[in-house]
Amino acid sequence: MVLQELGGKLTAALQKMQSVTVISEEVLDKMLKDIAAALLEADVNVRVVGQLRKAIKTRAALEEEVAGANRRKLIQRAVVDELVNIVDPGVTPHEVKKGKPNVIMFVGLQGAGKTTTIAKFANYYQRKGFKCCMVCADTFRAGAYDQLKQNATKLRCPFYGSYTEADPVAIAAEGVAQFRKEKYEVIIVDTSGRHRQEAALFEEMQEIRVAIEPDNVVFVLDATQGQAVHEQATSFHEAIDIGSVVVTKLDGHAKGGGALSAVAATGAPILFLGSGEHFDDFEPFVARSFVSRLLGMGDMSTLVKQIKDTIGDDKNDEMMEKFSKGEFTLRDMYEQFENVMKLGPLSKVMAMIPGIPQMGGEGDEGGNRLKRFMYMMDSMTDDELDGRVDLNRAPSRVDRVARGSGTHPMEVQMLLRCHKQFEGVVTKMGKSGLMKGGDEQMV
Ligand code: GDP
Repeated sequence: MVLQELGGKLTAALQKMQSVTVISEEVLDKMLKDIAAALLEADVNVRVVGQLRKAIKTRAALEEEVAGANRRKLIQRAVVDELVNIVDPGVTPHEVKKGKPNVIMFVGLQGAGKTTTIAKFANYYQRKGFKCCMVCADTFRAGAYDQLKQNATKLRCPFYGSYTEADPVAIAAEGVAQFRKEKYEVIIVDTSGRHRQEAALFEEMQEIRVAIEPDNVVFVLDATQGQAVHEQATSFHEAIDIGSVVVTKLDGHAKGGGALSAVAATGAPILFLGSGEHFDDFEPFVARSFVSRLLGMGDMSTLVKQIKDTIGDDKNDEMMEKFSKGEFTLRDMYEQFENVMKLGPLSKVMAMIPGIPQMGGEGDEGGNRLKRFMYMMDSMTDDELDGRVDLNRAPSRVDRVARGSGTHPMEVQMLLRCHKQFEGVVTKMGKSGLMKGGDEQMV
């Protein structure tokens, strides 16, 4: 998961608050100091961090007076809200809609990951059933045409471009006009990147923009650029009024906190995050879900949305009905894990399940853990799976399940704890009707 280190530190700071009985000013200050240190280390701007600290302190003081309620909860909520504020400029990005042409123009500097991002974007919407296509209006870089075409072929995505035409505005206009006529729904236009910002690049982008009238202009930004990110995003925003941003390369050693907060500070909403070279290394950015996951609280809202997309509505309604009654057995969890496995790279999905991110693990370790959990559940009886027997009170059964699945009883205990957490979240969401809606807030 991106920014794992930052997430771990923030969670540790919050957890310290759990272990004390009274949250004095001293405890609060210490926690804020830890949070600030973690954010600064992740490259978040010092002024932004200062504001966050102040805002949390003010809220903690104010809300305590008003509510007199659980100070711990209030502070936790304030921390989450203020972290969300850092990465959310409060602007809703353009939403791709079915049944109409959505023209999306991609801009960015060379090497930022624009071509890769375009393929990921097409792949993402194709999976959702949209008719996608690509137009290559990058006549500047030799090889751009072939690179984009290669990806388009892999994705079986119709493609428009030319080896001979040198005018990118003409290509963009012709390609978009043709695909509009053919009723494509997501028309992706690649434009030239340059090594650095320069007037000629901005001029060309503006001309293309006028010619194709895009619904969204997406700026692709490389997170490894550090503090330069803010300046880049600002000048692109000023020159061409970008609609949204995709931040790439959040895998590896990028101190992504800097990039994410800097972009949001320009007022341009982040649309997707790219975290690898594969088409699947791509996820929509929803500020609150992102923070929730960062803090190891899981991100059931994204998970549920993805599961919904995968399993279809009928079965989904049945499932939601059950959850809303507060029923969530080990068998239900098994079924959810099966759905989860259909969703793509497991390591990405794991971070969304409450209880699992905290276990840590690099690469697909989370995925392997999920498989081991499923072996354990395969070794359970119907009574155990359907909750007629409580395994938490039956150590000999736990031992039997461990033996049967070739695992350790402690792992079975871990599975039971994961189930408890999952159950808590699912029933909470079910009862509040959140699972049916779109923008549920888990934290
Ligand atoms: P463009 O010049 O902006 O079109 O950039 P490309 O799409 O050709 O990408 C430049 C390099 O960055 C390529 O080697 C890509 O494989 C790589 N790349 C793109 N996105 C990501 C990402 O999210 N993570 C990593 N690690 N590499 C990426």
